[in-house]
Amino acid sequence: MNKSTILLKVYINNTGQLAIMELEEYVKGVLAAEIPISFHEVAMRAQAIASRTFAIKRIRNLGGFGCKTNPEADICTDRECCQGWVSAEELKELWGDEFESNWEKINKAVTGTQGLILTYNGNPIDAVYHSTCGGSTEDSENVWGNRVSYLRKVECDYCKHSPFYKTEKTLCLRDLQEKLGIDLSEDDLHENDVFISGLIEQIERTAGRRIKKIMIGTQSFDGEKLRELLKFPSTRFWWSVKQLTFQIMGYGHGVGLCQYGADGMAKQGKNINDILTFYYTGVEIEKMNKHSFEKPLRGKVITIDPGHGGGGSAVGPTGLREEDINLKICEYLEQILKTEEANVKKTRSGNVYVPLAERVRIANEAGSDLFISVHQNAFKDRNVSGTETFYYPGDLKGKKLAAFIQESLVKTLKRKDRGVKQANFYVLRETNMPSALVEVVFITNPEEEQLLRDEEFLRKAARGILSGIMKYYKI
Ligand SMILES: [Zn+2]
Ligand SMILES: [Zn+2]
Repeated sequence: MNKSTILLKVYINNTGQLAIMELEEYVKGVLAAEIPISFHEVAMRAQAIASRTFAIKRIRNLGGFGCKTNPEADICTDRECCQGWVSAEELKELWGDEFESNWEKINKAVTGTQGLILTYNGNPIDAVYHSTCGGSTEDSENVWGNRVSYLRKVECDYCKHSPFYKTEKTLCLRDLQEKLGIDLSEDDLHENDVFISGLIEQIERTAGRRIKKIMIGTQSFDGEKLRELLKFPSTRFWWSVKQLTFQIMGYGHGVGLCQYGADGMAKQGKNINDILTFYYTGVEIEKMNKHSFEKPLRGKVITIDPGHGGGGSAVGPTGLREEDINLKICEYLEQILKTEEANVKKTRSGNVYVPLAERVRIANEAGSDLFISVHQNAFKDRNVSGTETFYYPGDLKGKKLAAFIQESLVKTLKRKDRGVKQANFYVLRETNMPSALVEVVFITNPEEEQLLRDEEFLRKAARGILSGIMKYYKI
């Protein structure tokens, strides 16, 4: 896709205009609005890729979801809604003599990453970001309720130089009451002892309700001594909390890229890939092309075959059954294939016995485009471990499919790469479409059996297989 063909409708909040902009030009205005010009050039490039991807995900013509508050626009310039943007004219006024050199920096960051976007399983991601995480980013579901695989929490040690790393805000109770619409019954003198944990504790009073002893901080004071030190007129006193000082770590929603963290990483010599894959889990930086916006699996008939069923499959050292795991992985795989709009067939649901010939018949009669059989390996030597994928000798497309699945699985699961192998398995031989049989890991290996008990590992296996299928169609 030619870059000049990517246009987006931008609602400019401060003028109320709807402008049509070219993507790369738009990204320059975003950089100027979103990060300080003093940022490291590598951080600027990382931000350019994130902001470009953020925009792509919103362009309606490319299947994006548009701006929520301005339905006629793809994106707006309100940071709270979409992402910031500022015009070159405004920057000239703002920067004065420094405009040329600053603009050159921005220009370099954008042209140096021209057309690059972030993808997950081959699709552009929703590249959300924030100013400063304050020590840790956040899982998407804790902020917005929906779990996004690439928006995972990471401990960030890189944003300490941000002016927003730690800030303070002091509010008096009256402000707090007004802002929150609550009643804190702030009586001036209620003659009740208020204990403040770690600050005022162990209060002892005389019969005349004078302070006899009191613990302030870690030290105990005699009433009269305290009166002398604080120069109070008497020891018959009470106290109340009139204001609260909050210590606040970070700035923004905390999901995705931490901008100051990206700058911190860049200053430590990390590269763009280090930075972006740190804050966006499992993503890739890809050159944007028309494939990025297509759903290559749309309408493809894909038969998935959870190996075994109905008893008799391999069993792990602590009793995990292969047939159950195969089914779970296939269920996850079915879910994500459906989000890619594939037409999914399954050879079994539930723990039932389905003969091999029946599995093949299901795949062939559906006119499947692909057949994927999912298994766990087993071997009498429990030390044997790793991932392997099989294809039928002579099935060149099957070989390509198996190679991509193996590559993606090894990358995702990080188990030993046992390679892509030929095998004369019935389901591979008799199915008349490209087919592959995956042995995810060894259920007989104690460590891998434990991994198979983790639902997240099974989800990862499904995603690895999906990613292999996507690559098969794209490359
Ligand atoms: Zn918006
Ligand atoms: Zn951070």
